[in-house]
Amino acid sequence: MAEKYISIRNLKFLLYDVFDVTSLTRHPYFKQHNRKMFDMVLEAAMKLSGSLLHPVFEEMDRKSPELANGQVKVHPVVRDVMKEFGQGGWIAATFPSEYDGEQLPSLIANACCMVFSAANYSASVYPGLTSGAARLILSFGDDALKSTYLPLMLSGKWQGTMALTEPQAGSSLTDIITTASPTPDGYYLIRGRKTFISAGDHDGVDNIVHLMLARIEGAPAGPKGISLFVVPKLRPDAEKALTPNDITVSQIFHKMGYRGAPITELSIGDKNDCRGYLLGEPHKGLGYMFQMMNEERIGVGIGAASIASAAYHAALNYAGSRCQGRNVAAKDPLSPQIPIIEHSDVKRMLLFQRAVMEGAVSLLLQCSWYDDLCRVVSPPEKKRCKLLLELLTPVAKTYASEMGILAVSQSIQCFGGYGYCEDFPVEQHFRDMRIHPIHEGTTGIQGMDLLGRKVVMQNGDAFKAFLEEVGNTVDSARQFPRLQTLSIRLEAAVGRLQDVTRHLVGVAMQKGADIFLADATLYLELFGIVVIAWQWLLQAEKAEQALAGNLSAADIRFYEGKHYTARYFFAYEVPKMEGLIQRLTDGDPLTVEMKPEYFQD
Ligand SMILES: Cc1cc2nc3c(=O)[nH]c(=O)nc-3n(C[C@H](O)[C@H](O)[C@H](O)COP(=O)(O)OP(=O)(O)OC[C@H]3O[C@@H](n4cnc5c(N)ncnc54)[C@H](O)[C@@H]3O)c2cc1C
Repeated sequence: MAEKYISIRNLKFLLYDVFDVTSLTRHPYFKQHNRKMFDMVLEAAMKLSGSLLHPVFEEMDRKSPELANGQVKVHPVVRDVMKEFGQGGWIAATFPSEYDGEQLPSLIANACCMVFSAANYSASVYPGLTSGAARLILSFGDDALKSTYLPLMLSGKWQGTMALTEPQAGSSLTDIITTASPTPDGYYLIRGRKTFISAGDHDGVDNIVHLMLARIEGAPAGPKGISLFVVPKLRPDAEKALTPNDITVSQIFHKMGYRGAPITELSIGDKNDCRGYLLGEPHKGLGYMFQMMNEERIGVGIGAASIASAAYHAALNYAGSRCQGRNVAAKDPLSPQIPIIEHSDVKRMLLFQRAVMEGAVSLLLQCSWYDDLCRVVSPPEKKRCKLLLELLTPVAKTYASEMGILAVSQSIQCFGGYGYCEDFPVEQHFRDMRIHPIHEGTTGIQGMDLLGRKVVMQNGDAFKAFLEEVGNTVDSARQFPRLQTLSIRLEAAVGRLQDVTRHLVGVAMQKGADIFLADATLYLELFGIVVIAWQWLLQAEKAEQALAGNLSAADIRFYEGKHYTARYFFAYEVPKMEGLIQRLTDGDPLTVEMKPEYFQD
């Protein structure tokens, strides 16, 4: 039997029962779709991941990219992946039909991304990045840029990248120094160095298109002086001939995991002949780039939750077949050993993984739901959905990434010593997972974004909208006798979050930004627990509704599994809020006062 890495049943439960994706087809923008087509798309994603991506999951890790004669060589499957994802419409899945897109809801497209990432995270990154980069050109490019780049990127012939990071500008993007000098011919000459650029060069496509941040000469310092450029590796002329564009790969990095995709350092314009084409208006580049960064932050969350899914299914499968020990009450040493899944502690480890992973998947689809609504609802409702999406993006990215690491670690634990060895895929999942709290903004940066910006923006409107959403779920779930305790606990948890937030806003006013933001990462952790508790109550309610009907034995197993996992989250994870709340309200500015020199000796 093929190895299971994701539950299509769970995805369908979330898509159809929890988020009601088919209701979107009532709106003109999505009216060409229906449930049958969504099912077919999911089916096709499963088939493609099973035939193309998963078979090379291990091989792409073991035969990682190499830099030879200035060209990055990747596993030959990458060319097939880009071709299949281009021809099959996966890169353009959510693009409007006038650009040959499928105009699919983000809910369906992101569920398919989960299937691809669970099958082989590294392979899924190439088309994903191309899609995000092409969408920037779609949103802010003029007709010439759109017609030159979009068809070739969306068909998978050209790779897209996001080229932000520089050696001195990682978390601090305002310190970017790559320059852009205007020329009379309309293009800019770009000079600088970019580092850690994913898929920044490779031989699986015919060209690479960098969406690159740079400063136009004379631009103001800081974030308001950054512009966005399209900078191809090979530049097309009017006759579509391609000329090298003075970009060289100075190195590729040898990474802990996620080894199937190259991460490159690029030297740009060493011969003063690198042409870049301005996207949108000058000095507005960082704002434009945030479109792609927010999309990619959800993408990182999807990658993390998907790896956790693959690791969970591996552990579940193993725990059902590995026999060790006996029930603690069994007296006869000659009685047969039992499968480890029967031990409570192993069930606890599996429940932890499932609670984290399916909770994160649900939150990522909740974000996709808001994204879809933004396309179809009236302006005030759109504003609300946008605020909710902005508020929840750092939480979705970070919860999946940070908790995903712990979840995969528990998967390894279920395997005992075998999990630590290459014989099983979980050691690779652990290595592949570790990047997620780092790229697309570290956890520290996400914490400051949530507390310093998102929670307080527009007089706290996003936070208020979030409280309303949770309140609606509590009101609706408490009608079910088995969910009364969970509803009361969520109501209390969200009340505590409100108290902590109020307290911290007071700290900001009385003691300044330093102390206010010192523990922003812990605030993000607290927020994450409340958000995932909300997602579990949403799921538990749909499970209760379903259990009231006439169900098959398999259905009962599925919905009872949901119920127990929701109970697990409230019983084991929600109490972790207490320690965080104590720290966040105790007022001792320890880390602000601690001096770097006190770390010596
Ligand atoms: C595998 C991989 C793929 C990547 N892909 C891309 C890509 O495609 N495109 C791209 O542009 N970049 C990419 N990056 C770069 C990535 O986004 C950066 O590594 C990341 O933003 C962190 O920057 P840094 O590595 O310079 O770390 P630093 O910014 O030096 O951070 C180091 C530590 O200090 C903390 N820190 C930094 N500043 C602050 C602050 N003000 N307050 C509190 N804490 C702070 C951080 O949270 C972190 O823990 C990739 C990186 C890797 C490793």
